[in-house]
Amino acid sequence: MSVLSSSQFIIIGAGFAGAATAYHLTRLGARDIVILEQEKIAGVHSSGRNASMIRQVVPESSIMVLAKEGADFLRNLPSDWPVPVEFRQNGSLLLGSGEGWQKLLRDAEMARNLGIEAESWPPERTKNFVPVLRETRFDGAIWCPTDGVVDIHALLSGYLKAAVSLGAKIRYGCVVRGIELAAGRVSGVVTAEEIIKAECVINAAGPWAAELGKMAGAEVPLRPCRRHLFVTAPLSWVDPAWPFVWHDAHGVYFRPDSGGLLLCPCDQDEMGPCDPPTDNAIAELLAEKIRRSFPGIADVAIRKNWAGLRTLTPDGRFVIGWDSKVQGFFWVAGLGGHGVTTSSSIGRLAADLVLKTESARGCEFSPARFASLSQNGRIEPPSSGL
Ligand SMILES: Cc1cc2nc3c(=O)[nH]c(=O)nc-3n(C[C@H](O)[C@H](O)[C@H](O)COP(=O)(O)OP(=O)(O)OC[C@H]3O[C@@H](n4cnc5c(N)ncnc54)[C@H](O)[C@@H]3O)c2cc1C
Repeated sequence: MSVLSSSQFIIIGAGFAGAATAYHLTRLGARDIVILEQEKIAGVHSSGRNASMIRQVVPESSIMVLAKEGADFLRNLPSDWPVPVEFRQNGSLLLGSGEGWQKLLRDAEMARNLGIEAESWPPERTKNFVPVLRETRFDGAIWCPTDGVVDIHALLSGYLKAAVSLGAKIRYGCVVRGIELAAGRVSGVVTAEEIIKAECVINAAGPWAAELGKMAGAEVPLRPCRRHLFVTAPLSWVDPAWPFVWHDAHGVYFRPDSGGLLLCPCDQDEMGPCDPPTDNAIAELLAEKIRRSFPGIADVAIRKNWAGLRTLTPDGRFVIGWDSKVQGFFWVAGLGGHGVTTSSSIGRLAADLVLKTESARGCEFSPARFASLSQNGRIEPPSSGL
């Protein structure tokens, strides 16, 4: 196999992780970048199959910071942003009961301290706002008016177009099959056609990131987990201005979509990286959760469903940073259920770290925190509060 080309930076994956990293690298002045994507178009996997929701009040404070920065970016897209991106700020309602409600109250306080608008609403006010919640039982709701739903395809395409306009290249239908190493550092990647030499390889391969890591001799514990989404036919009583409503106690949410509703039972089945098949049993799980949590919408008929993979880490935090063993190998992975919301801030953090413009940020996401992986594959509790 011959060496046909070289690039300073290779990014593997054209989902939100890879696209936003390419975007911010180019904004910081990097030009010699090639994105390698195995599919014929961008957004075939998690980045094109998600619920498109921008949620800022989340349980992990380090992710909340990135979520706020990500939402701010969507509200104030740069003047040279190449495509219109609709961001409907209908807000969100996170319903809680018992201990879970106490935790939501603490999360909301943390959010306010970070400058995110988050109010505590009693059930009556919540039910007046979204009348189908009339029969739902909960202790209270967190109202976040600046949350919403974004056009994910326009957003993803915007990152890629902007990066390309500043010199980045994208190769579709290009599967990375190996990572080349020389003296303990990456020297390039192997594709079906060629070896592409590179100083830095950025692993933004989503559910495949752990496999790509192993090709370089690097290991991070990532778990791709399947989640289903369901959409109803149009429903006359759905108000398109409703926020997304998430019943935290039961793990189920809905939001307006195409005149009907999009619903999710928050299922989480671990599986290898793939194009995940749908499972009929999850439709039953959804029906059961809806009956229990949202009796006011229990009769809706489902028109279509699909599944995607959320790639999780043992501690719920992202993996963004240089590999601790393999020099020149950089991770942007493990984005769980937050990769749309935080896309811009993840890309900016990754680009800062790659170009070393802001080395102090982001240590809580460093892959080095998993260096203490024990032999049985379990994660040792972090010793320094990471
Ligand atoms: C059902 C569901 C609902 C969700 N809802 C939300 C939500 O409402 N809000 C939110 O913020 N987040 C949500 N998420 C999470 C979000 O979708 C992900 O965090 C995000 O899309 C991950 O982006 P990524 O770029 O890491 O992965 P991906 O989008 O999977 O991109 C990885 C890319 O790498 C490519 N690739 C892999 N291996 C190779 C290789 N060897 N060679 C070349 N290319 C390769 C793949 O083809 C793929 O295009 C949801 C996810 C799911 C599944």
